[in-house]
Amino acid sequence: MVVGIIGGGASGMAAALAAAEHEGVEVVLMERQARVGRKLQATGNGRCNLTNLHAMEGGYHGSDPSFVSDALTAFDVTDTLEWFRRLGLLTVAEASGRVYPYSDQAGSVVDVLRFALDRSGIRVETGFEATKIRWKEGSFLVESREQAVCCDKLIVACGGLAGTKLGGSMSGYQLLRSLGHHMTKLRPTLVQLKCGWSGVVSLKGVRANCHVTVLRDGVPFAESQGELQFTEYGLSGPVIFEVSRDVCQGKGEWVCQMDFLPLISVQELRCELDRRRENGRAVEDLLVGIVHNRLGRVLTKSIGLSQDRAATSLTDRQLDEVCLALKAFQVTLTEPLGMDSAQVTAGGILTEEFDPHTMESKLVPGLYACGEVLDIDGDCGGYNLQWAWSSGRTAGRSAGEEKR
Ligand SMILES: Cc1cc2nc3c(=O)[nH]c(=O)nc-3n(C[C@H](O)[C@H](O)[C@H](O)COP(=O)(O)OP(=O)(O)OC[C@H]3O[C@@H](n4cnc5c(N)ncnc54)[C@H](O)[C@@H]3O)c2cc1C
Repeated sequence: MVVGIIGGGASGMAAALAAAEHEGVEVVLMERQARVGRKLQATGNGRCNLTNLHAMEGGYHGSDPSFVSDALTAFDVTDTLEWFRRLGLLTVAEASGRVYPYSDQAGSVVDVLRFALDRSGIRVETGFEATKIRWKEGSFLVESREQAVCCDKLIVACGGLAGTKLGGSMSGYQLLRSLGHHMTKLRPTLVQLKCGWSGVVSLKGVRANCHVTVLRDGVPFAESQGELQFTEYGLSGPVIFEVSRDVCQGKGEWVCQMDFLPLISVQELRCELDRRRENGRAVEDLLVGIVHNRLGRVLTKSIGLSQDRAATSLTDRQLDEVCLALKAFQVTLTEPLGMDSAQVTAGGILTEEFDPHTMESKLVPGLYACGEVLDIDGDCGGYNLQWAWSSGRTAGRSAGEEKR
């Protein structure tokens, strides 16, 4: 039996290796780029956050998030870590539960998977862009412009549209739709947010640990705590990725409120500012030692305080305003950056058209799908790769073992 897999990314490689564990199964992995795992190589800022110790159903989204349950149980985080250990990858977990390779290099993850593909005798066809699938009487013919691969079972693991420069495309959706499947609207998620505040330009590159609350028409919509990065167009960093899902989708005024000192109460901060007012500094140095110097100056400027003014001349009301700027600074959000900058695609091929236990299509017997092409997206912190491993292994195991 021949199992064909379209897409040599995270889920496709996991599927290929699982299918190849079955005796007598020949596996062909088709990848349109010059090498496998190109996006994987760029994950986690080059470190690859390959899973999360807390990854479970509650961290996933889509029309039916419970779809992830079977695959995540059949191949859970412990199985994933054990599998990578067997492939030769040592890993380390951070206190947050995020797991990285010990080498801190995403390339190590790609390498151990590549070596395993070689060892398993899997035929890897790079530079093969599947453009058409023909399905007839229980066999599939996958065509690229130059070649064709015939297989008995076919797994579509083409990923989503996010990260277009790294290989994200519409291809998987189009191939599955050509076989009768349906999809939801696609939106970028785990993505930077543009804001309508000009002051952000002078903060480019500044990082802050803060608590972020996204408000829609004044009502809290999402919140998180962690590292924020200012960019020339807006807000980025893990804390922003975590709250970015569905922000600015739909009407309303979207605002990001930042507490730059989440561990310090307003009262404590106010006492500290009172002390600083007495010690004769200029306003430009008022917040030195509290937040990043550039951030301190931009915040005091934003409430109209001239920088060379002596802090001793500040009124109680002005100190209250400084306090507010530090504890609840608000900027208007305009839109998320596009799919090319997003890490993940929200939306995708309808999961109700697949069996969650096997990843097999309910419309086309012998056809499977896994990974981001399906209408599933996970939280920031290793959840998306865990979905790729779990769904990929499930699809590969089922495609390899089921007789037709
Ligand atoms: C910059 C960035 C950083 C990220 N960091 C993390 C992280 O640290 N942790 C985490 O959990 N998630 C992270 N993600 C998300 C994660 O990488 C994806 O969710 C995951 O790779 C999806 O796996 P996949 O197999 O479905 O798709 P992909 O890994 O995208 O693989 C799909 C493959 O299919 C190929 N392909 C597509 N169409 C065709 C075709 N027609 N013919 C042949 N081949 C085709 C593509 O070239 C690609 O190689 C990150 C994403 C980005 C963009």
